Amino acid sequence: MLIGCPECNMRISSAAARCPHCDFPEPGTKSPEVIKAIEIKKKNQKPVECTNCGFKNKPDFPRSQWMFHVGEGVLYIETYEECKKCGDTHIYTIHIE
Ligand SMILES: [Zn+2]
Ligand SMILES: [Zn+2]
Repeated sequence: MLIGCPECNMRISSAAARCPHCDFPEPGTKSPEVIKAIEIKKKNQKPVECTNCGFKNKPDFPRSQWMFHVGEGVLYIETYEECKKCGDTHIYTIHIE
């Protein structure tokens, strides 16, 4: 997606490693537009069956656990969630298109 650079406000790709205009590092990870897009995906996330016990978890994806990755033209976050029944940890990847 296209975002406004958090530093210079030019329209750039959310997956840019650096802003081509002002050199701001990984602008997508600090973009309010990206954070909003993740919040929307979070809201629309359907319950996911635990691979260990089969319990259907509705993931919360708390923001403190978001790990941003930028590279090869994509921006995505990795986050993890514990099964509410058995405590098994599951990793989720959310891509920002
Ligand atoms: Zn910039
Ligand atoms: Zn489980």
